[in-house]
Amino acid sequence: MRILIVSDIHANLAAFEAVLADAGAVDAVLCLGDIVGYGPDPNECVARLRALNPIVSLSGNHDWATLGKLDVEDFNGDAQKAIRWTQTVLTPDHRAYLAGLPPDGRLGDFTLAHASPRYPVWEYILDTVTAAENFEHFSTPYCLVGHTHAASIFQQIGSNGSCDLLLPEYGVPWGLGKQRLILNPGSVGQPRDADPRAAYAILDDEARTWEARRVAYPIEQTQARMREAGLPHRLIARLSYGW
Ligand code: ZN
Repeated sequence: MRILIVSDIHANLAAFEAVLADAGAVDAVLCLGDIVGYGPDPNECVARLRALNPIVSLSGNHDWATLGKLDVEDFNGDAQKAIRWTQTVLTPDHRAYLAGLPPDGRLGDFTLAHASPRYPVWEYILDTVTAAENFEHFSTPYCLVGHTHAASIFQQIGSNGSCDLLLPEYGVPWGLGKQRLILNPGSVGQPRDADPRAAYAILDDEARTWEARRVAYPIEQTQARMREAGLPHRLIARLSYGW
């Protein structure tokens, strides 16, 4: 089964549409959370995702804050403003959809979490020390996470708990071997790994391959919508440089 893996769409419809077009035909869609927050199209993105009937759809910290399940004060100022704006525009129906999503889950050999298997909503797995600790918090061979907005692969080495950080080679299917992995597809709607293109991945659970991918999208379209909505300038600017 060819599965489209998306995470951190963050209400960026232009980026999400570019990913869907670039991915081509897939058998299923799996979303690792943060569908809303930061961006100008929360209702459009939730509707688009729902229409795809994802096999798994998780909630993230921005989704939870929008729902009032996390304190908005725990976020930085710009994120708070975007969350408060999202609260004012999100329809009751889409709000109910987000409220029904768990922050973690499982699909066959894959443990799924928005942030980390240890702390599914909050922890950032950005370094090998944090990744190594998290390998003890799931029992499947592989774990998929989002949240950092950086496409990455952490590989456990041996049994002493150490691990490597591998940077993905885009557009090249990568064989899932015997070593345990924590895989992050990066962010569709707000990349933060110095590459402004939308990030996603294709998982083939039969061929057992992970293909990290990037696709350019009309950033200025999203930025114009953000200006119309009065979203913070810094959030608008950062889309241009992917940081
Ligand atoms: Zn996010």
